Amino acid sequence: MGGGVCGRNNGLTSPLMFNKVLQAVSKPLFSPGWPCLPKWTRPKVLKQLLLYYLSTILSIYSNWIPANSSEAMASSKPAYIETSKKGLLKEKIARAYEILKACTLCPRGCGVDRLSGEKGFCQTGEHAIVSSYSPHFGEESPLVGSHGSGTIFFARCNLLCLFCQNYDISHEGEGVTFSSGEIAKAMLFLQDRGCHNINFVTPSHVVPQILAAVDKAVELGLSVPLVYNTGGYDRAETLSILEGVFDIYMPDFKFWDPKVSEELCEAPDYPEVAQEALKEMHRQVGDLVMDGEGIAQKGLLIRHLVLPEGLAGTGQAMRFLAKEISPNSYVNVMAQYRPCGRASEVHALRRTITQEEYQEAIQAAHKEGITRLDERKRVFLFNWI
Ligand code: SF4
Repeated sequence: MGGGVCGRNNGLTSPLMFNKVLQAVSKPLFSPGWPCLPKWTRPKVLKQLLLYYLSTILSIYSNWIPANSSEAMASSKPAYIETSKKGLLKEKIARAYEILKACTLCPRGCGVDRLSGEKGFCQTGEHAIVSSYSPHFGEESPLVGSHGSGTIFFARCNLLCLFCQNYDISHEGEGVTFSSGEIAKAMLFLQDRGCHNINFVTPSHVVPQILAAVDKAVELGLSVPLVYNTGGYDRAETLSILEGVFDIYMPDFKFWDPKVSEELCEAPDYPEVAQEALKEMHRQVGDLVMDGEGIAQKGLLIRHLVLPEGLAGTGQAMRFLAKEISPNSYVNVMAQYRPCGRASEVHALRRTITQEEYQEAIQAAHKEGITRLDERKRVFLFNWI
């Protein structure tokens, strides 16, 4: 997350469990609402509650800004407001839904009619499935600030890495069908809680539904920037529809070698597609720009998960970012790989990375001239398979 070890969840909190936590905290503990949770989840819920409050307190302590986060963002208006005013948002929605009739929204190019209920590789029909929505404090610091990033996790995925940390959500589709109106309400819910942005996690297969939700949310008063938090397997043509809607792109750049991406997510074209997607994203929004409080306002933030045995091709990936995107790219070189899902099917993926592997990755970034590296504390998880 934008995800999982794919980069879309830092592993601190499971999105599905987090929703249960939110449901629990909305009622007094041990009230009649508490028994709604199965008994086996209660210790987990308590643990998640503890982590949630701990991360919130730490975040506020280390990075305090005024309570009304919208004020902090007031200096720049998100692009979608102007796009909506000009009537362009509705045009974009129509274009995007048209694609669903013979779906080529993403590079899988399934050609199925999703509006008639057919499903392709992503197993998603006309409507989006939402796994959870909540303020999230485990994202990169420019997104989190003091009040969190307002994440909306979509179930299913167009990439489906076999080692996905959110396997139950991405592969098995755990979640609830949401209309665009319901997604819009979730966005307002997160904004009302002071989140600095709305962060769509795994959005590539539900672009039309997101656009329709943004349109409704604007009418309801949405005013914080939007984050497109993707695995990086996005068609440049689809991304072009998003110009003037998303201010912040946060793609993974996962693999350099087509053989690796073929083995790990049945997508030999991933490296080529992701490179084109990164170029298109950077063309639209440029390098990451933050306000005086260090909160992201606009730009590109790239995630790269270091894999054991050099499987991610970190050196080549960093060279590409420095030479073909920008040496001023903001990059999160992530250390938190741990074996999940079907990772045990690939020998090299049965362990976490070593300190040495991570240091080599950081050195590779420096060597290529990438100096804007996300500075959160690195968490190392050693072999547990
Ligand atoms: S969005 Fe889904 S159905 Fe459409 S091309 Fe991609 S994987 Fe296939």
